[in-house]
Amino acid sequence: MNTTHNARVAIVTGASRGIGAAIAQRLAKDGFAVVVNYASSSKEADALVTELTAAGGNAIAVKADVSKADEVRHLFETTEQQLGKVDVLINNAGVLKTVPLADTSDALYDQTFDINVRGTFNTLREAATRMNDGGRIVNFSSTVLALNMPGYAIYTATKAAVESFTHIFAKELRGRNITVNAVAPGPIATALFLEGKTDEQIETFSKMPPLQRLGQPDDIAAVVSFLAGTDSGWVNGQVLRANGGLA
Ligand code: NAP
Repeated sequence: MNTTHNARVAIVTGASRGIGAAIAQRLAKDGFAVVVNYASSSKEADALVTELTAAGGNAIAVKADVSKADEVRHLFETTEQQLGKVDVLINNAGVLKTVPLADTSDALYDQTFDINVRGTFNTLREAATRMNDGGRIVNFSSTVLALNMPGYAIYTATKAAVESFTHIFAKELRGRNITVNAVAPGPIATALFLEGKTDEQIETFSKMPPLQRLGQPDDIAAVVSFLAGTDSGWVNGQVLRANGGLA
């Protein structure tokens, strides 16, 4: 725990691994006090906080399932108590399971919408009353929205909702000098993308962008760093596709 309240404060949801962990590392390097949020991977989250702290950063791990409104309130309260009011919110937490629409169970539909859409809604609603003016919000969409791939109906629909939140919330925060943007990555080499795919499928995906490789978490962390920083001040209500030119 650190009680100094000087650095700007960033919450990164789903930061125990994958893209979120790379964002937490990057924002810590950028000088933010970072909240590493997670739902279940406490060992990974704690290890990341230890790493960031050892490198001279200021970071805490906070467990909260973003799909639960009371846990998200607790996430913001803990952040305020331990680091100060929030300047930057990165809505990175998300889940993906590719199943044709006809084979999708009620439980999978609910889980995907609860985490990807309700989770984003919960943090945005909390941010509206709690964030410092002049802040930055970055939501997570996906390039699949531009591809309309079979098997991705439910996931893609959740990201369409997130893009709508992004455009409208940017306008609803008029007067606060808070920007709201979204990043829409193409395939990134994390568990979310790699799990359940054959080597052949992974190879096909990696050949799709003209840059002919899979994205890495750091590719996305760099984009988020820009959107969370001072240089992006005039970018608001936008969706930035970071995908090596895939779509
Ligand atoms: P990942 O490697 O599976 O990591 C997901 C992270 O989200 C984990 O830290 C996980 O923590 C956390 N999480 C899951 N459910 C949560 C919940 N209910 N509350 C709080 N945290 C939760 O996924 P990723 O590839 O880094 O994806 C990050 C974001 O990028 C997602 O929004 C995803 O849709 C988007 N995206 C990814 C790709 C890609 O190819 N990888 C492409 C486009 C968009 P726990 O283990 O503790 O649950």
